[in-house]
Amino acid sequence: MSDSYLKFVNSPFGARFARSLGLPKPEVLRRYRADRPEFEGMVAIGAGREPQLLDALASLVASIGVTSVAHESATPWVALANRHGLMTGRFEPADSGSSARLAALLFDASGIEDSTQLEPLHAFFHDTLRSLGKCGRIVVLGRTPETCDTPRQWTAQRALEGLTRSLGKEARRGITANLLYVEKGAGSSDHALDATLRFFLSPRSAYVSGQVVRIGANAANVANAPAFDWTQPLAGKRAVVTGAARGIGAAIAGVLAAEGAHVIGIDIPPARDALESTMQQLNGTALAFDIAAPEAPAQIAAALDELGVDIVVHNAGITKDKTIAKMTDAAWQNVIDINLSAQERIDDALLAAGILRDGGRIIGVSSISGIAGNLGQTNYATSKAGVIGRVQSMAPHLRARGITINAVAPGFIETQMTAKIPLTIREAGRRMNSMSQGGQPVDVAQTIAWLAHPGAAGVTGQIVRVCGQSLIGA
Ligand code: NAD
Repeated sequence: MSDSYLKFVNSPFGARFARSLGLPKPEVLRRYRADRPEFEGMVAIGAGREPQLLDALASLVASIGVTSVAHESATPWVALANRHGLMTGRFEPADSGSSARLAALLFDASGIEDSTQLEPLHAFFHDTLRSLGKCGRIVVLGRTPETCDTPRQWTAQRALEGLTRSLGKEARRGITANLLYVEKGAGSSDHALDATLRFFLSPRSAYVSGQVVRIGANAANVANAPAFDWTQPLAGKRAVVTGAARGIGAAIAGVLAAEGAHVIGIDIPPARDALESTMQQLNGTALAFDIAAPEAPAQIAAALDELGVDIVVHNAGITKDKTIAKMTDAAWQNVIDINLSAQERIDDALLAAGILRDGGRIIGVSSISGIAGNLGQTNYATSKAGVIGRVQSMAPHLRARGITINAVAPGFIETQMTAKIPLTIREAGRRMNSMSQGGQPVDVAQTIAWLAHPGAAGVTGQIVRVCGQSLIGA
């Protein structure tokens, strides 16, 4: 579905018209394109006291091939960058002119142990934010509060959430701001942070802002994982995607296939033609099953048994909206069954038979309705909150097998599902976020591809909203 207002205000006439009336002008978001460089421009580095992740940042900056400038808060960066053979300089206030646009601001807050040590965050963002170009990236790195040694350290690290979420709301112009909490030990192995940092610095995360992601120390497993190619990280992997005939599911299938995976798409028998045509274009496999049918888990397990599977994406979902007083029992039951219980039954079947391989990935599709609740969606929000519970409850059990389980929670995404929403509610949902626009199915798909990445082994039990920092929800 297209956003006519976004197109209009980004035309020469529309831009003048919007300016004269003081109307908001959403930015055309820069999204990943295989024919354009993924990373370019200059990143500014800032740091709090005794930063512990600068080495990991230097190896990342070297691997993505961008130049860097050190803010005065990050004096160790220059020597470190030189050791890594990086082109680097110092950030000077003069750089804040329009001729010196930055592509990203990276701040290492890992060494902050007390609220009295937060001041360098103000200094860095005060000095640099106006130099950050359109669709720029802000990433703050901290330590997982729950694993901090002292209450004061936990407090100071937790404070980073307020800063990062506010930066996302202030920056506008298609800029995203996200916080990565890195557990001690997780940053020590090469690549343990790279896949996640790359995602949050890339145009792939165009519609992901205001998020907090915890990277666990089991990311050290990445060091033992087989080497992968950054251009085809999912080569040799097999991925199941439910609800793959159209919308977000078709986009997920497309992105996972582009990353090298063989995709097995599942959708209901009436969607067989669309499913087969999507899968044919991707050299994938089409399975026409209703995932909620009692026999579906056994049928899916049998279809995957011989070759196994590495990635399971539970995308299929439906809405049957009515206020609870008017909602029939069937509408309640149907939504819970397809959106939640079917996923549990399928996972159980694949895990029990060892069809989902060790080191595998389970990724659920929740919704911001499951976080905030929504009028007329008691059934849907219950099912989507259940998806979050599933992720949180299963993550510890799957850790021993190196399987991660995470969910994305989309906000307003332009699909046939949201096209059905009445106009005024649709327009409100679309604009009430830091990007002032809806997301595209590919934004959800790229986020899922990051969670499926071999380098995201330390990311488990997480819920990542793909909502342009929607005002709806937490
Ligand atoms: P969509 O209706 O366009 O596509 C859903 C697909 O799932 C369809 O192809 C459908 O046939 C399939 N499906 C439904 N029931 C099935 C079943 N029993 N067995 C197999 N396949 C089945 O929806 P979409 O907008 O692409 O949404 C995809 C997912 O994202 C859903 O889980 C939805 O709840 C979630 N989501 C969407 C939005 C949004 O803004 N579009 C926001 C939040 C969450």
